[in-house]
Amino acid sequence: MSFTSQIKVELAKAEPRRLCCLRAQCYGAWLFSKCFGLQEGTYITETPAAARRMLELAAAGAGVAAQMRYAVSRRNRPACRVSLPEEQDRRQLLEAFGHTGQEPCLRINRAVLEDECCPEAFLRGAFLTCGSATDPNKSYHLEFAVPHKNLAWDLYTLLGEAGGLGVAPAVVRRAGSWGVYLKDSGQIEDLLTYMGAAGASMELMQVKMYKEAKNNINRKSNFETANMDKTYSASARQTAAIAAINDSRGLDSLPENLRELARLRLDNPEMTLRELSGRLGVSRSGVNHRLQRLLEIGEALLEEKGVEELTQAPIQK
Ligand SMILES: [Zn+2]
Repeated sequence: MSFTSQIKVELAKAEPRRLCCLRAQCYGAWLFSKCFGLQEGTYITETPAAARRMLELAAAGAGVAAQMRYAVSRRNRPACRVSLPEEQDRRQLLEAFGHTGQEPCLRINRAVLEDECCPEAFLRGAFLTCGSATDPNKSYHLEFAVPHKNLAWDLYTLLGEAGGLGVAPAVVRRAGSWGVYLKDSGQIEDLLTYMGAAGASMELMQVKMYKEAKNNINRKSNFETANMDKTYSASARQTAAIAAINDSRGLDSLPENLRELARLRLDNPEMTLRELSGRLGVSRSGVNHRLQRLLEIGEALLEEKGVEELTQAPIQK
């Protein structure tokens, strides 16, 4: 099932708590369906739950009997075709929400949404018929495909006000419709929860967390690799210096505190400063200081032998 269908199935199950909200949801669903006019229109969906819900809403919210038939969608998939074949029903649906069907352009009648509880039910209805959302594994995009320009801008305004969510949609012209869309994952989550699709919102959040965790791991492992390279090159230089001391004078020539560290470093070239410090029970700056001493002694010996530099890096004092 697509993410869009998943959301619609969840929204179709949400039961409005009050009669005003049931009417608002009915209004939202039919207003954006291309079946809201005096002429007979058809609405086609690949989500049967959405089609069934439209029929229930028409009956419960406006007392009209819609018809559902099986059809094929534009993508050649099994779909449901919803319509209001009786003119009397089409008229009754329009009148139920203060429309005549003679308006020069279709707008949202805000009088239907006067109660504070109603906009969320209205948007739930709107998404049920004209909404879509991209699989969050691919990208974040939620869109309402609105059949008319002014209706699209009305929806844009309503979304901006919705529930104080701070949702900031954008409007784009598409072939044969207007898209009112969101791209911000946080805003999409908030709107889904607001409309009554908390499950889909949770799924989006989990996908996002998973993606972020994966990115963090990648970033961290890049960081660790870089650090490891640093540890290895420093260690290589130290090991060479200690080996030079060992070969010329022997490690026993060293004071005890340096000797212990020299043996430990020779045996464990991969150890970090922190690990050496832990093993010896000496602070990291103490270990660092001793390593510098070993480098000075070893590199001086190598210089005597004619090996000028072990690495390009200068000795840090
Ligand atoms: Zn209400």
